[in-house]
Amino acid sequence: MKIQTLFCHLFFSSVFLNGLDLSSGGVLSKSQASIDVHHYDIDLRVDPYKRFISGKVKIKFTLLEATSVFEFDLYQSFTISGVLINGMNLDFEHKNHTIFIPNPDIDLFDTHQLVIKYGGSPPVAKRPPWDGGFTWETSESGHPWVGVSCQGNGAHVWYPCKEHPSDKADSADIKITAPDPIKAVANGLLVSKKQKDLWTTWHWKTQYPISTYNINFTLGGFNVVEKTGYILNKPLKIVYYVLPEAEKGAVELLNLTEEYLNFYANSFGQYPWIKEKFGLVHTPYWGMEHQTINAYGNAYKKTKLGYDFILFHEMGHEWWGNYLSVADWSDFWIHEGFDTYAEAMFVEEKFGWDMAIQFVDERYKKNIKNDYPVVMDKNGTTKNPAGNDVYYKGAHVLHMLRYLIGDEIFRSSLKEYISMPKELEKNQTSTKEFISLIEENTGLDLQWFFDVYLYQGELPILNVKEKFLKEKLLIDFWWENKGFVMPIEITYNGHGGKTTRKLVLNNKPHRVAINKKEKYELDPDHWLLFDTNRDFK
Ligand SMILES: [Zn+2]
Repeated sequence: MKIQTLFCHLFFSSVFLNGLDLSSGGVLSKSQASIDVHHYDIDLRVDPYKRFISGKVKIKFTLLEATSVFEFDLYQSFTISGVLINGMNLDFEHKNHTIFIPNPDIDLFDTHQLVIKYGGSPPVAKRPPWDGGFTWETSESGHPWVGVSCQGNGAHVWYPCKEHPSDKADSADIKITAPDPIKAVANGLLVSKKQKDLWTTWHWKTQYPISTYNINFTLGGFNVVEKTGYILNKPLKIVYYVLPEAEKGAVELLNLTEEYLNFYANSFGQYPWIKEKFGLVHTPYWGMEHQTINAYGNAYKKTKLGYDFILFHEMGHEWWGNYLSVADWSDFWIHEGFDTYAEAMFVEEKFGWDMAIQFVDERYKKNIKNDYPVVMDKNGTTKNPAGNDVYYKGAHVLHMLRYLIGDEIFRSSLKEYISMPKELEKNQTSTKEFISLIEENTGLDLQWFFDVYLYQGELPILNVKEKFLKEKLLIDFWWENKGFVMPIEITYNGHGGKTTRKLVLNNKPHRVAINKKEKYELDPDHWLLFDTNRDFK
């Protein structure tokens, strides 16, 4: 169990701390902002023996504003052999992981096609999935087994793109040519498979909007284990591409997948990619939420409560992170905090409230650092210093919000949040939009709550002043943080036995009197995060 805990901790603390000097997001340059990408068509030959990739990527985009130069992102060590816009060969410069292409005066508001031909040895991921790059492995059968990781460092570790969370493509084609007999597995549905000279081109296509880091492929000598699952009574292809040596256990994994997908669909709405598939691919690294083809390298391990954490967590990102996503990495907690809280909701549904309280304490509360705000300044990158707290504190903030506004409105708001019309395109959202939704649904001004828990690192401080007066203990409670009005529960033995009261607190002392011999407990269900400043006279 200890190992499991350590492992999870490692996962969370490291997700965005990576070895390569590459990141996603940040301030968009004027040139980047002038482009809206619609489609990536990635056509690559992947040679696992030479550890080399080559081919071309077509990017369909609309030009939104006049610009003298276009900027796309691609890892510096690749060699670019040609750049064309609408069929015209153009000069380019490739420096600092950016391709600069002079604008040949193409029309504003029209859709254009950029083609970039390139090749080279992609970076090798030192510690996938946290470090970006390729994992070149050989499976037991002696066949190549290749994974690609690119959340933290960005998709430009392997293909040219506009690497920014604000620009999701409408759809994508992924064509990977690999040596027989290995399979290339990617997002969406398999369109075709064409064999030539002992190499096969696997053409995958997703018709759904997709983030750059979610476009992905894995190579391996996979067997295919699949079933038709029913998610809220709708059929869905559930499939696991697994190496033969790990096939035992695959059927059970698919059954768990169907159960977990139904949990998520019941909690947050239908599986977003119901027309395509829910895919899992056996990877030489732990896991990642690649849309419709989650990386799975957990070897069927279960938590002490008996569920498959990595299957559950990555799958949850299909709702929190893939379907609903952020346009600025400073709001990254909406991917990880919401997905992490879904686990507590699952534990509660399956194992009851007491277990859920224990889970929130052990998994979240103990691991929160409070060093940095959960939501960072605007124009964040994937090098987010808040680290762990976007998971654990993010999840705990939702737990506290639920306490504050009540279970029913909390749950219905989460469901609404996933699919309501957003200010931004392609279901992208922000913390601000979430706060507005909650305030509208509750009719409350909750800025004081979000200001303290999301926009500052330190926890709120509860002042507690105790004094004895004859047979009584008098306790004054008040919040130090101006405007902070979180109610707090207190339990003690009163006249009629054990009493629980909810104290409505603000910045002025609120007095409670109990019998001198009695003990009291604050926040008995451990809902809240706060520090205490105690004074006894
Ligand atoms: Zn995650």
